[in-house]
Amino acid sequence: MHAYWVGVLGVCFAAFLYGLYYITGKDTWLARAVIPSYAIILGIITLSAHRNFHVKSIFFNGCMAMFALFWLKNFGDGFMGHSRAFDIPVILLVPLFFVMTLDVKRLLMLAPVQFICVFIYVGAFASQNLAVEFSQREQFAFNLVVAALSGFSICLFAAVAFSRERADQNLFNLVAETEQLAATDGLTGLMNRRAFMDKLRALWPNRSEICIVFIDLNHFKPLNDQYGHAVGDQVLCKVAQRIGDVPHVELSARLGGDEFAVLFDAEACEETMELHIETLHAQITQDMRWESGVIPIGASIGYAHGQTIEQSLSGLLRAADTAMRRAKNANTHWAKFNPLVDNDAIASSTLEIELKSAIKNGQIRAAVQPIANATSLDVVAYELLTRWTNSGFERDPSPKDFIPIAEKLGLLNEILWVTLDEALERLDLTEQKLAINVSPAQLVASDFLESLLRILERHEVRPHAITIEITEEVAFRNVERNVAILRQARDLGFAIALDDFGTGYSSLSMLDTLPLDKLKIDQSFVRKSDKSTQSKSILLAAIRLAKQLGLESCVEGIETEQAARRIALLGADTIQGYWLGKPRLVQEQPRQLKLVS
Ligand code: C2E
Ligand code: MG
Ligand code: MG
Repeated sequence: MHAYWVGVLGVCFAAFLYGLYYITGKDTWLARAVIPSYAIILGIITLSAHRNFHVKSIFFNGCMAMFALFWLKNFGDGFMGHSRAFDIPVILLVPLFFVMTLDVKRLLMLAPVQFICVFIYVGAFASQNLAVEFSQREQFAFNLVVAALSGFSICLFAAVAFSRERADQNLFNLVAETEQLAATDGLTGLMNRRAFMDKLRALWPNRSEICIVFIDLNHFKPLNDQYGHAVGDQVLCKVAQRIGDVPHVELSARLGGDEFAVLFDAEACEETMELHIETLHAQITQDMRWESGVIPIGASIGYAHGQTIEQSLSGLLRAADTAMRRAKNANTHWAKFNPLVDNDAIASSTLEIELKSAIKNGQIRAAVQPIANATSLDVVAYELLTRWTNSGFERDPSPKDFIPIAEKLGLLNEILWVTLDEALERLDLTEQKLAINVSPAQLVASDFLESLLRILERHEVRPHAITIEITEEVAFRNVERNVAILRQARDLGFAIALDDFGTGYSSLSMLDTLPLDKLKIDQSFVRKSDKSTQSKSILLAAIRLAKQLGLESCVEGIETEQAARRIALLGADTIQGYWLGKPRLVQEQPRQLKLVS
């Protein structure tokens, strides 16, 4: 490419120089001859360096045409008797100048042409000018030698072009080989993830519909452990080979580990896809012979079919992956992506990815909702609730979306420490209490109580100001351990409330087992108590039950003044709900929190 620019600059320079000569009136015979020749040489360099196939072919054919014109003119001059000794070097050298940058094929074609042309021209010249001094044989020998040397010099150019082309080809092969290696999975020889994605991206605009298939082998790790890695490798190779044998497979790749991906060709339409997937599954999961026995191979397949204008590549890949997970969990061999079933899974996996960084980036914030005395309506406590702010999603995820995920990822305590720290920084807890939600998994963390106490100490808040809200799940697993921790917490001064009472598997014996101070009656009863006398009776029974057990009762979900009055009449101690106040970020409304009646 550099030669190309050198040529372009040179031509511009020559044009400039000639222009200068012309303007200054110095366009002498020499300037007119030398500068255009210089420009032609540079032009040839420029064009020969050009990589574009069309430009090159125009250039090559142009050179051949100049070669032919040259000879036509010389033959004309020669046969008209205008040949001079001075012309011999010209007819030997100028054609070389025309052809030197051509490729091997053209050079080898032109070498005999040059030989014949020189032979004819020199023969004519000799018979016109040398007939007196030399015999016919001598003329013939001279003629032959000059023509052979001239033809041979073109052959020399061909040899140079040959070695140049071979070097180019070797370089090309090397680049192709390196590219191939970078795109191939070393073990199975299939494409790797990167190459697969590149191919899909290239294919995307040219196909209206696409079906992407995700394959994950079942129990591959135990198989590897049981039979050894050599066998594991054999299984992967066998699966790769089997995928390749399935009809209509257009692309196949090993994405990593025991995961493969397949793209079916355009003929495999949505209607027939299930059949293709069935064939694919049957093919992959044939037992593999190994020494004297057989190794069973299992696989879960997920596939997603979509219109390329509606779907993004990554969206379709994720969809196939999600469907594969569903197939694996349900043990159904394969599953097609179904937005009704799988969209939730996709959303959760996105939340999973984002949640950790949200905690780190301070997007997880503390909100509090007031809890008031049912008759005086004095705010006696706040409930600490977590909010995910500025999440970047269309709508900020609600705790119902991300709390279960945080629980799964073991992040609930981290969230509690962050939000509690923020809340204690802002809240004055001399008059009111603060209720925190604690799930069973949080409770059993070895340092739960110590960490909690440490935070309280830092903010000079006594455990008496804190209520731990637990749900009935606490009584389902590790009951003894949970009870022991709750007792310990109570001994330290924390109050314990049973949250959402009446929603789970409320068994009355639980109230006996768990060390409790408060009962929070679920909001669903308030909502239903308007219309259903049964709900109203349960609500009343729950309030009375709390009273009889010596527990403070709190009714959640009070959305209207009427509801608040009714609940107060039923004898509830405290109430919580949107009518009193919605949960608010502690940072947004700091002063409101100190409202004591
Ligand atoms: P919860 O502990 O029962 O909290 C009360 C939930 O009811 C809150 O929902 C609150 O906004 C909502 N609520 C309060 N008053 C009303 C009302 O009048 N009407 C209606 N329709 N809803 C009302 P939120 O904040 O979405 O929290 C949902 C659940 O998520 C909470 O239920 C709690 O179990 C859990 N949660 C929230 N933050 C945390 C946390 O930091 N840690 C843990 N472990 N769980 C949390
Ligand atoms: Mg709660
Ligand atoms: Mg609740």
